Formats: sequence, structure tokens, C-alpha cells
Amino acid sequence: MKWEDNVRKVVPYVAGEQPKEKNVIKLNTNECPYPPAPGVNEVLVNMDCKEFRKYPDPDVTELREVLAHRYQVNPEQVFVGVGSDDVLSMAFLTYFNSDKPILFPDITYSFYDVWADLYRIPYEMQKLDENFCIVKEDYLKENGGIIIANPNAPTGLMTPVSVIEEIIQANQDVVVIVDEAYVDFGGESCLPLLKKYDNLLVVQTFSKSRSMAGMRIGFAIGNEKLISYLNDAKFSFNSYTMNMTAIAAGVASVKDDAYFTETVAKVIQTRERVKKELHELGFVFPDSKTNFIFAKHQTVSGQEIFDALRNEKIYVRHWNKPRIEDYLRISIGTDEEMDTMLGFLKSYLAQKQG
Ligand SMILES: *Cc1c(COP(=O)(O)O)cnc(C)c1O
Repeated sequence: MKWEDNVRKVVPYVAGEQPKEKNVIKLNTNECPYPPAPGVNEVLVNMDCKEFRKYPDPDVTELREVLAHRYQVNPEQVFVGVGSDDVLSMAFLTYFNSDKPILFPDITYSFYDVWADLYRIPYEMQKLDENFCIVKEDYLKENGGIIIANPNAPTGLMTPVSVIEEIIQANQDVVVIVDEAYVDFGGESCLPLLKKYDNLLVVQTFSKSRSMAGMRIGFAIGNEKLISYLNDAKFSFNSYTMNMTAIAAGVASVKDDAYFTETVAKVIQTRERVKKELHELGFVFPDSKTNFIFAKHQTVSGQEIFDALRNEKIYVRHWNKPRIEDYLRISIGTDEEMDTMLGFLKSYLAQKQG
């Protein structure tokens, strides 16, 4: 059809499956297996629906204030959005406006190239080394901006903050975004670097460590001037991105730090145990500092194990992409879920090798 010539075309991001059937073990989208803080349920149960006739606070002041307090920054340094996907997308639109390419790793969150395509931002992917590590020198050339997920997804690997700092320091004429979606699971945050660098934007989410993927809350912290540009773009796009329930639920979550710490510790404990058991079953993997393990079996192909798990209604994530086609990204579920998966893998692999 003729009008199609005028359509903005993009190949969309493919999210992990949300299976409709019951009784599945869902380890494919890095959700937290535990519920959100009890206070979240309380505010939602007591929500006064009469309030819904009004628009929500476009500045999301209350949530920005509790986040600012939690992370020891000014509220003017905090931006919140509908999941960090919303925050990151807005950040791409706002900060990546150069004719020079933005840089990010070849194996990373597969939304980055989609946003770049959508907004017509030129980009150049930089190859991770054979151990899936960032090659720092690749980020020291001319560019229009940088985005790095740290810890990285889907590899789970953490780049030392000292290396990230060298990259930020060498690129002070562009914005460097550090996507810290998984940092709470034992990683080290770049937030302390904000005191030194006004070109750094740190992005985090409530979807993983705060068990609230369904509420869609993400946030960014940066220099006040940097954040003000992000707000200008947001208020030119949609003033009311955050709805009243999400704001109230988000505030309740941030206020319960004890629950947050305890939940994250449980996930880490399960992860460390699963690492040992996967290793014994013949899997190899980069050392994860996230709520997932990116594992490859030494003899059986990724597709084969993926299909076998799937037959058992155990969902993990698999990409048919060069360099990672033999890897499975396995989210950390409850101990019971992980035991079911490990039990199945043990008998499946024994039978294959037997
Ligand atoms: C999950 C994830 C996000 C986005 O999560 P939201 O649910 O949109 O907050 C962003 N970056 C990475 C690397 C992720 O894994």
C-alpha cells in the first residue's frame, strides 16, 4: 500500500513469553519469585478510588522524594517512569542526538538497538571479548553517547566500577548511561560517581529486586541539569506517565528497606547454591551478580535443553544468536522451583549421556 512509504518502521523488541497456562515454572523474564513488601498490598487495598477522577501528580513528587532519601541525592536528581524501559527510551530520545554513533556491547539488553532504530540514532555495537567482558578501549573513541548495562544482561557479568569510571571520564562530552537493572543482587553501583561526573545517568528498576514488574516503575538518577532535560522531553510527550496506584505502591516499597534487603539476600543465596549444582551437572557460565545465570552445557546444545525444559513446563530464555546460541538464561526462582529444574536436568542429562 502506498501510505506504507510514510510509515516509521521498526523491528520491535521481543519480550520473554508470559505463558497463559497454569502450573508452569517461569524462569524466563527475571521476575522476583517473592511478593513485594507487605506495605504495597496495604496501600493498594486501602486505595480510595474516588481519587481516580483526578489526574495523578505529574511531577511524581512523593516517589521521587523517597527515592532521593533512599539514595542520598536531591529529589531534583531523580526521574521516574513506567518501568526502566520507559526511562531508558526517554533517555535515548533526550541525550542521543548526535550524528556520531552511540556505543554499546554486541551482547547486551536487546532493547538498545531497537530504541536506536526507532529514534534514528546511529549506533555501533562493540564486541565483548571471549569471556563476555567489555573491552574498555572500544569505548575510548569518538561517539554520540554510551549505554552499558552493569551487571550486563543476559551474561550476568559485572564490570568493575573503576573500568566504568575510566569510560565516563574519557567521554565527558557525551552522556553515559549505566543501566543498573540488576545491581541490587551483589553488584556495585555507579551512583557514587555522580559527585564527580555530570554526564552520568544511572538507571534502576522496581521490576527485579523489588518484585514489582507488574507495576511498571523505573527511575534514573543524575545531575540536576541532566535530569531537567529528561523532564523537558517527558513533559513534551506525556505529562502523566505514572498512575496513582503505581506511585503509592512504589512509595510503600521504598519505605520498607528491611524487606528489600531480606528478599534480595534470599535470591542471592539460592543463586549461589544453583551455581554449584549447575556446575556439577556440566554447565559453564560467567559469574553472575544478577538474579539469573547464563549457562551453557559442555556437551548438549542450548536449543535441545531449552526444548526439553519447555516440555516439562519449565520456561527459561534462549536466543538463536551467534556466540550465545548454546546459552540459556535461567532466572533465579524459589528454592523449590530451582530444585524441580535441577532434578529434571539431572535425570535428562544422565539419560542422554548414559
Ligand atoms: C529488565 C530490564 C530492564 C527493564 O525493566 P523494566 O521492567 O522496564 O523496569 C532494563 N534493562 C535491563 C538490562 C533489564 O534486564
